[in-house]
Amino acid sequence: MIGLATAGAVDEEAVAFAASSLASALGVATALLGPLPEPAYAYDGSRGQYSSTLILLDAVARRPAEATKLLVVTEHDLFIPMLSFVFGQAQVDGPVAVMSLARLRQEFYGVRGDRALLLQRVRKEALHEIAHTYGLTHCSDPSCTLSLSTDIRQLDRKGGDFCAGCAILVHDAVAAVHDSLRGSYRRGGAR
Ligand SMILES: [Zn+2]
Ligand SMILES: [Zn+2]
Repeated sequence: MIGLATAGAVDEEAVAFAASSLASALGVATALLGPLPEPAYAYDGSRGQYSSTLILLDAVARRPAEATKLLVVTEHDLFIPMLSFVFGQAQVDGPVAVMSLARLRQEFYGVRGDRALLLQRVRKEALHEIAHTYGLTHCSDPSCTLSLSTDIRQLDRKGGDFCAGCAILVHDAVAAVHDSLRGSYRRGGAR
């Protein structure tokens, strides 16, 4: 199961849309978990942003065992030290990813809000970060949702699905992760 959890107050419809996007794109059950604490510990006053790495580390410690993967969703603007911001961050081939809605909103750029556009961006970012947790790295196809986006224009130019090559890789990885879990449950039950 892929769990989704909020860190701080978050647009619930956007989180639910991320969950349904992941479930349909990957064929894995998703579940909305209880909220994580407001991530005040991750706030950097000099930048006015939140450390995505600290939020990831907190999520690693709090991830429930039944959530094979955990996607944390926050409204806070995220950064890593070498970049001015990140849309999200993931542990490659690890259990946890985080994404922010802050820069997915048109309002961030001084433009009137656009609900449909927000949800398209949520889907792209959720699929992108979770694919990293299944071990996939960035794709060179600019239309693939696993291509790197360093600004909102690049995010909007790419599609909301994996390219054919990434689709095969991610489905193989998903099957391997979730089948090996089923196998270990079987072995455990036989003892
Ligand atoms: Zn990425
Ligand atoms: Zn691709």
